[in-house]
Amino acid sequence: MRIAAPVARCLFPLRLFPLCPLAACQPAADPTVDAAPPPGSDFAGAAFEFEEVVPGIFHARGTGALAVGSHGAVIVNEDDVLLVESHISPAAAWAVVDEVEALTDKPVRFVVNTHYHFDHAHGNQIYPPEVQVIGHEATREMLENGGSMGRSWETFVGGLPGQIAALEERVAAAEDDSARSELESRLAYLRNYLAGQEGLVPTGPNTTLSERLTLFRGDREIRLLFFGRGHTGGDVVVHLPNERVVITGDLLVPGLPYMGDGYLDEWDDTLEHLKSLEFDWVLPGHGNPFQEKDRIAWLQDYMRDLQARATALHAQGLSYEEAATRIDMTDHAERYPQIIGPGVPAVAVQRIFELLEEG
Ligand SMILES: [Zn+2]
Repeated sequence: MRIAAPVARCLFPLRLFPLCPLAACQPAADPTVDAAPPPGSDFAGAAFEFEEVVPGIFHARGTGALAVGSHGAVIVNEDDVLLVESHISPAAAWAVVDEVEALTDKPVRFVVNTHYHFDHAHGNQIYPPEVQVIGHEATREMLENGGSMGRSWETFVGGLPGQIAALEERVAAAEDDSARSELESRLAYLRNYLAGQEGLVPTGPNTTLSERLTLFRGDREIRLLFFGRGHTGGDVVVHLPNERVVITGDLLVPGLPYMGDGYLDEWDDTLEHLKSLEFDWVLPGHGNPFQEKDRIAWLQDYMRDLQARATALHAQGLSYEEAATRIDMTDHAERYPQIIGPGVPAVAVQRIFELLEEG
C-alpha cells in the first residue's frame, strides 16, 4: 500500500486519496512510502489473483496466501475504480486495494457490499468517508448492529482458536519433516487469519439503497439492484448492461450457496427477477465465473425441493438435526456434484425451521 509521504505524517492512502485532503500535507521528495498494513497482513506473495473476464472488469479471487473470504470484483472505469466486496478483514481489504495497483493507477472511489456477511464486508473500516461504500439498507443495519458477528461468523471465525490449538498439537506430534512443514504453513495461515480479526469493527456502508442505484462513470453504467430477499435480507447484484456482466455475491454461485441466513421461500422469486437481466457472464462471490443461465433454474429447483422436504419433516415434529440427516437431495446430484449422499447441511434446515416457526 502506498500513501502520500508527508512533510507532516499523512495517513491518507494515495490510492484512496489522490489529492490529500490536508493542505499542509504535501508530498516530500520521495512521493511514496509503504504504510503499515492492518493486523493479519503477515503473508508472502500476492493475496489476490485477478481474472479479466471482459475488458476492465476483473474477478478477484484469493490465492490462498491470506484469508480473504469471498471472491470480489474490480471494475476499472474511465477515471476511477469500483471494487465489489471488502472481504473478510481490514487486512484483506487493504491487500486488494494495494494489489489493484498492478492493474491500474486510477483511485478506488466506490466499494459495493453485495450483502452483510463477514467474508464479504468486514474490511469496510479501511475506507475513508470520501470513498462511497454502497450496500442495501439491510446490509448496513446488520453490520452496524452486530448481525455480521452472528451464527455464520461464529461458525467460521469463532472456531479459529480451537483449530489453531488442535493444529499446534499435530505439529508437535508430526513424525516427518514434510508433514510438519505442511501443517506449519496451515498453522501460519490460520494464525494470520485470527490476527486479522484484531481491531475489527464491523462497519456499515456509508451509502445505502432500497431497490436500485445507478452509477454512470464515463461510458460505464453500473446498476446496483435489489430484487428481494434471498441469501440474506439485502442481496444486491451489480449489473453492467453494456458489458453484459452480472456480479451476484452469494445470491447465485455455481455450486450450492450457504443457506444459514437465507430466506429459501423467497429466494426462488428473487432469482426469477435475475433471469430478466441481459448478461453473458456471472461473477459469483464463491466459485469461478460462469455463463450458463440454466444455473439459475437449477438453484430454484433445488430450493423448492429442499423447502418442501424440510417443511414436511417439520410438520412431523422432527428436530432440525434429525431432519437434516434424513433429507435426500441426491436427485440433484447430477447438477451439484458436491451432493454425495442423503443429508443436507444442518444449518440450512435450522434456518428453514426457524422461519416456519416465526410464521
Ligand atoms: Zn454470504
